[in-house]
Amino acid sequence: MVDLKSQYEKIKNEVDSGIQEVINNTQFIKGPQIKVFEDNLASYLGVRNVIACANGTDALQIAMMALGLKPGDEIILPVFTYVATAEVIALLGLVPVMVDVDAETFCIDTNLIESKISVRTKAIVPVHLFGQCANMDEVMRIASKHNLFVIEDTAQAIGAKYRVQNSDSRIQNGSSQEPDARCHSAGCIGTVGTTSFFPSKNLGCYGDGGALMTNDDELAKKIRMICNHGQSVQYVHDEIGVNSRLDSIQAAVLNAKLPHLKEYENSRNQAANWYDELLGDNSNLIIPKRNQQSTHVFHQYTLKIVGADRNLVRKKLAEKGIPSMVYYPIELHKQKAFEKYHSVGDTFAVSEQLCQTVLSLPMHTEMTREMVEYVCAALIECLK
Ligand SMILES: *Cc1c(COP(=O)(O)O)cnc(C)c1O
Repeated sequence: MVDLKSQYEKIKNEVDSGIQEVINNTQFIKGPQIKVFEDNLASYLGVRNVIACANGTDALQIAMMALGLKPGDEIILPVFTYVATAEVIALLGLVPVMVDVDAETFCIDTNLIESKISVRTKAIVPVHLFGQCANMDEVMRIASKHNLFVIEDTAQAIGAKYRVQNSDSRIQNGSSQEPDARCHSAGCIGTVGTTSFFPSKNLGCYGDGGALMTNDDELAKKIRMICNHGQSVQYVHDEIGVNSRLDSIQAAVLNAKLPHLKEYENSRNQAANWYDELLGDNSNLIIPKRNQQSTHVFHQYTLKIVGADRNLVRKKLAEKGIPSMVYYPIELHKQKAFEKYHSVGDTFAVSEQLCQTVLSLPMHTEMTREMVEYVCAALIECLK
């Protein structure tokens, strides 16, 4: 599914010397590598503040803590997502309110959000699933109408660009260096964005890592404090915080990889275009639809299998030695841990169908035309 070894071989010198430098100066926590990374990522994304933390799940939790969300507050999120998004909501005593997704983009169906808003609703968490942005124009319109925070889960879409339809004051102006002022990076449109540097993510380190991004300087200060035990000055604690820091070795790895992120994005798009070309006219396959407002960074290449048994196809592929994954096999409302948040009568028809039909194919920065052809030929064979 991914090939981190070949990717590493190409940047071995930068990575090795970066890690060695951390070991030499022994500042394993809060080393100078962290700030360098935060500043470089902020300028890459065109956002005023990036705050590194320990992982993408913590980033979501810290965002919710920093916004002062209180037990009982309702948070709207898509039902078809990785569990982390819902988990932190429940952990903080907040109430996850699930919304079905769009059948083509796999992101939250913005037409369904308003029917789920109550007097207790405080925030919307759009997830930019598989590498492209949710319909942020609508998310921001609804959030502004109902006075809600927007926490963008950008764990799968770092570097994706969203082009807003109406550039009005709803979208805070960052230090964006985009020639087109209507283009914003995923995670930098709402109140706050969160991301993950889990090794297989588009910008992955060699362990766990995460970050938050925001154009709100006050919020950034609070986030930074919460990440470090709510500490304003050493041993002075203004907030209840957590211990969630990116360590210096991981920052060194990220400093070596960030300069390649654009090139990695291009390689993923190239592979996706080849998949589209070779699979697009097969009547058993629906290739991923591109959202016109967003670029796609193809964290996953996920298609839908119709008129054939997805699980059987996957099994046959495995027999041919070709890996594939089902992201995600079970929607949140059917998970035992989240049953209690599922109100009777609530149905999620699109997500239910996606869980039965989606299949993610190998996708990474080192894919060659030959590899894609090999996977596609095998897949077509398995559909016969
Ligand atoms: C990976 C992921 C996370 C969590 O990131 P970790 O660094 O693994 O904690 C959160 N949300 C989504 C959508 C993800 O894909």
